[in-house]
Amino acid sequence: MSDILERQRQQEDMQKNDAVLDAFSMLVSGGRSGYKSVIEKKPMLFFCKSCKNQIGKAQKFCDECGANNDEPIIG
Ligand SMILES: [Zn+2]
Repeated sequence: MSDILERQRQQEDMQKNDAVLDAFSMLVSGGRSGYKSVIEKKPMLFFCKSCKNQIGKAQKFCDECGANNDEPIIG
């Protein structure tokens, strides 16, 4: 029941996302960092790994086939 703790947790989550984005930008830019803005402009699409239906970023289960998409196809 602490606002401060909750805020700290949210900040840690954001930093984690940042780290993921950094790693991803390094990957797509061939090892160089600083490509965050480029990535952010291009919306990522997620597809069901089972039936290739397009799903939402935070959508865990496919609308079409109900498959679990913990690791959806990103394209
Ligand atoms: Zn599906």
